[in-house]
Amino acid sequence: MQGRPFRVVVLSGPSGSGKTTIVERLIRQASVKLVKCVSATTRPPRVGEAHADSYYFLTPEDFAARRNAGEFLETAEVFGAGYWYGTLKSELERARRENGWAFLEIDVQGALRVMEEYPDAVTIFLEPPSIEECEKRLRTRATDSEETIQRRLKKVHDELKLADRYKYRVVNDELEHAIGQINAILTEHSK
Ligand code: 5GP
Repeated sequence: MQGRPFRVVVLSGPSGSGKTTIVERLIRQASVKLVKCVSATTRPPRVGEAHADSYYFLTPEDFAARRNAGEFLETAEVFGAGYWYGTLKSELERARRENGWAFLEIDVQGALRVMEEYPDAVTIFLEPPSIEECEKRLRTRATDSEETIQRRLKKVHDELKLADRYKYRVVNDELEHAIGQINAILTEHSK
């Protein structure tokens, strides 16, 4: 990585696309050094989520103040559930300092903003093999209410419509295969 240009990598994928596992694996063993940018959010932490590790958990007032101060690269209200999410510019700086590439796992609205700011960003859309598979994964997770599942599925439909705005689309049909494809994309950009 030393001496190689800094890059921003964006990975988006609807709920149920298998994103979380892929993100963890890539951070551990991608072909280039990826530094995960920790997002800020106003949603409450889930069990097992730690501040500054999973997210920076902010009050709505703190979030608004930091947005007004220009600290975010992008912000979005995800799922329309009243919770805000945003990428802090300071996290991209941290990735740069650590000689890695900034790795953003954000939703489509946020990704479109990042594309404006960083046209060279390596943008990857992770697709579920099918809507049916996606619904199955959401239901197997069993953490969400029916209403939330329906809302997430609606968002899946909306996000798939914007998938062609990304430079790459990877279908998560089989974990190793999807990781292999993403690694190949990253390697290509590191040359
Ligand atoms: P969750 O609440 O399940 O952790 O995340 C919900 C959604 O928020 C996911 O689709 C995730 O990609 C998105 N998200 C997480 N952080 C950010 C961010 O900083 N900006 C945007 N636009 N979306 C984010």
